[in-house]
Amino acid sequence: MTFPKFFNELVTSLSRFPGIGRRSAERIAFYILKMTPENAKDLARKIEDIHNHIRPCSMCNNFSTQEVCSICSDYKRDKEVICIVEEPKDILAIEKTSQYNGLYYVLLGSVSPLEGINTEDLNIRKLINRIERGEIKEIIISTDADNDGELTAEFLIEKISPYKIKMYRIAIGVPLGTQIEYIDSATLGKALLEKKPV
Ligand SMILES: [Zn+2]
Repeated sequence: MTFPKFFNELVTSLSRFPGIGRRSAERIAFYILKMTPENAKDLARKIEDIHNHIRPCSMCNNFSTQEVCSICSDYKRDKEVICIVEEPKDILAIEKTSQYNGLYYVLLGSVSPLEGINTEDLNIRKLINRIERGEIKEIIISTDADNDGELTAEFLIEKISPYKIKMYRIAIGVPLGTQIEYIDSATLGKALLEKKPV
């Protein structure tokens, strides 16, 4: 016997999620099938809502419900310092340390030869424009301490060095392979304080 077409289509969509294989996707699809129609509709509406109401901040690419996100529009923050991260969730991790008061720039990815993501796929134009306008005095590169994060950091250093502004790499160092989002706040806060000039 085969499952109905509608079921298979949902399984195919779910199996595209990171870390979700076909079997897990089937389990989730069964769970959704067993939900009450009201709960299933509520879930579908929430998926639609995040697409309708959340967009990338026009300055830094962070998740935002406004044109400019709450961090970029906060007048108490130091607008001359930019911390470059891979994903919006890295901002959450750094904010939790309470050791940083500048702005961010979210790459929305990292260089990843295995996944076919090259340097030209990373959009840093908005950032370079601000550097060229002389708005930025200091950059802290806070990409992950794994292979892709290091390659991304090298690319950023190469692109930003010609502008002669102060540039630092967050001092995650060991253990290599650590992703920003999984580092505890105390360690991440220390890594920010001990940032290394590059
Ligand atoms: Zn922003």
